[in-house]
Amino acid sequence: MSIKKLSKDVFKSFVDALIASDQQVIGVKEKVQAKGNRFAFDNLQSADQLRLDYDITLLPPKKYMLPQDETLLTFKVAGESKSKIDNSKLILIGVHPYDMIAINQMDELFSQDQQDNHYMTRRKNITIIACDVATPSKNVFASSMGTATVESGFDILLTDIGDAYVAQAGTDKGEKLLAKASGAVNASDDDLAKRKAIQDKNKDALNKHKLNCKPSDLPGLLEKAYDHPVWEEKAKTCYSCGSCNTTCPTCYCFDVQDQVNWDLKTGQRERSWDGCLLENFANVAGDHNFRKPREARFRHRLYRKGKYVPTKIGGQIACVGCGRCINGCIPDIANPVAVYNRILEDIKPD
Ligand code: SF4
Ligand code: SF4
Repeated sequence: MSIKKLSKDVFKSFVDALIASDQQVIGVKEKVQAKGNRFAFDNLQSADQLRLDYDITLLPPKKYMLPQDETLLTFKVAGESKSKIDNSKLILIGVHPYDMIAINQMDELFSQDQQDNHYMTRRKNITIIACDVATPSKNVFASSMGTATVESGFDILLTDIGDAYVAQAGTDKGEKLLAKASGAVNASDDDLAKRKAIQDKNKDALNKHKLNCKPSDLPGLLEKAYDHPVWEEKAKTCYSCGSCNTTCPTCYCFDVQDQVNWDLKTGQRERSWDGCLLENFANVAGDHNFRKPREARFRHRLYRKGKYVPTKIGGQIACVGCGRCINGCIPDIANPVAVYNRILEDIKPD
């Protein structure tokens, strides 16, 4: 696969040409907010709006593969149903390595067992132009989780080396797209050395919280921590707001409901994000809630990240260290590193 160098002007023209094509182009934009500006993935109207120097986006890019709300099918109460598949194509620019790894995990999960055609069709139609982190965010800990850089999943990976971007194609789709960047040249050994220096630095620099064990120790540690006091210690100030779930790039739980229209003859099946910290997440028929205590819900989230999901994806830990849950938690209890390190004070990994 090619590795090219695009001057900043060449890159800008490349992005403007993509925007002028018939595909939707999403990138990271700065959002003006009362409490200071933040970054978010949004439609790009011009390359000037793109901010690849961002620290963290409010929501992860999972919303393009798994929207907050979607219609899965429409039906007639008499019996017929028609699946609703979104076939639109889009280009996503500026996905950080930890978010790319979260997408890779979701790809694996949604293609297992009963493949989720809604997710997989969207994913197939998304071209991802990832980028190495230029500005570490205040709570990132990707260095601890081994997710500060990424090797696969992207179609193109960009690294800002100062006056230019190094752009590596990761797939045939990315190779074809990169070939359209007129003015791109082959990256030199010097360019590649600059890129390696940035990636090596990020492996240590995205470390605002330090996990006191190897990520691979977590499943074994949690095996012994089910009754640890940390769950109650932390959960007693939890608002059950669900922010730690909704902002997380690896949380993918959803609720499905059938909505019957006013004609009582037709309807649609809707899917929307759900979260294990929300009080009614585990409510089932008969109004029985099998995970009602806050500490049980709090524990479940950390067990999913560190023990349950890893068993489905070859041992990968389902926390990529983005730090969004820490940013969004008002009582400051959601930090997975703080929880795991608290357990490590009492229990040693095998
Ligand atoms: S963000 Fe914090 S307060 Fe809200 S549900 Fe998560 S842990 Fe509880
Ligand atoms: S648990 Fe928190 S830090 Fe880990 S991936 Fe989810 S939002 Fe990011």
